[in-house]
Amino acid sequence: MSEESVRGRASRGNASGTPSIVDRLRSEPNARIPFSVEFSPPRDAAAEARLWRAVREFEQLAPAFVSMTYGAGGSTRDRTVRVTGQIAEETTLLPVAHLTAVSHSVDELRSMVGSYADRGITNILVLRGDPPGDPLGDWEKHPDGVEYAEELVRLVRDLGDFHVGVASFPEGHHRADDLEQDTRCLVGKLRAGAEYSITQMFFDVDDYLRLRDRVSAYDAEQGAKPIIPEIMPITSLRSVRRMLELSGTTLPSSLDEKFTRAAGSGHEEDRAAVREVGIELATNIGERLISEGAPGLHFITLNFARATREVLCNLGLAPARV
Ligand SMILES: Cc1cc2nc3c(=O)[nH]c(=O)nc-3n(C[C@H](O)[C@H](O)[C@H](O)COP(=O)(O)OP(=O)(O)OC[C@H]3O[C@@H](n4cnc5c(N)ncnc54)[C@H](O)[C@@H]3O)c2cc1C
Repeated sequence: MSEESVRGRASRGNASGTPSIVDRLRSEPNARIPFSVEFSPPRDAAAEARLWRAVREFEQLAPAFVSMTYGAGGSTRDRTVRVTGQIAEETTLLPVAHLTAVSHSVDELRSMVGSYADRGITNILVLRGDPPGDPLGDWEKHPDGVEYAEELVRLVRDLGDFHVGVASFPEGHHRADDLEQDTRCLVGKLRAGAEYSITQMFFDVDDYLRLRDRVSAYDAEQGAKPIIPEIMPITSLRSVRRMLELSGTTLPSSLDEKFTRAAGSGHEEDRAAVREVGIELATNIGERLISEGAPGLHFITLNFARATREVLCNLGLAPARV
């Protein structure tokens, strides 16, 4: 895949006037805080139908953008590109395609970017990704691939007028030596051309505020770029525990105890009680982030609309369901 051919496809994508995420965040009407949602690639037809129900429900709530995560595996990948393309072409939503370096040569990465450009998608969230199989295992670069997300940011930017975002980590990335190195890494990605970052989920807003301060102190210019906080409305303790483990995110002990109490001691956790605590927590986090001037709120949805909608409703960002 030549750089030239991707560049042509990117400019055709941009010719349709696709806005950037930063523009979208700035142009939110009614002075309300913008919100956005994250979807995951469907694994089969039933999951795809569920995703579309969520897409159509969120479409009515006018999020600033929607993002689609990128997973391992060829068939899921093909479905991801197709569905993200359909969101761009058949809805009023602005999609951001996640792209990871996992198991890809530079040539394959260029080709993926070209596939997105063909569908008018020029907003890309660039990530390194985690090792397939065991996300906590040793990272091995593809022999003809890239080592760090920063290189992928440069690669995508060199391919044309793409708008690139990157990941940031309020608690520091679990592979980083320390918070200073983590900050250097994020600033490196921003200096390489990323326009904003989206954080890993977190449950202590002070971690987000400290990240913002660290980046601004290290490089005021890059620190002015939006750091969009990610919120996970917890509805199942069992599944969130796995996500916490894989992402290196901490659930503060007071919250852990609250959720554990709500889950109860039965064989099956009390989902309704866990959900109630989860919605209340996500609402409190959202309220504090709004008062601290966050540029937007990005919600992990797991392709369900109900919990996020409830939080948005509590925050006055969506009408109550009638
Ligand atoms: C908002 C968000 C969305 C995500 N979406 C996906 C997804 O769709 N699919 C998926 O598989 N994963 C996803 N992830 C997970 C992400 O891929 C992992 O957290 C991954 O381990 C780190 O990716 P990165 O882009 O931050 O990597 P990098 O920025 O490359 O950092 C990886 C590690 O290398 C270190 N590092 C970076 N540069 C250097 C350097 N020059 N020298 C030494 N060390 C360095 C960093 O400190 C860090 O520890 C997402 C994460 C977030 C926060």
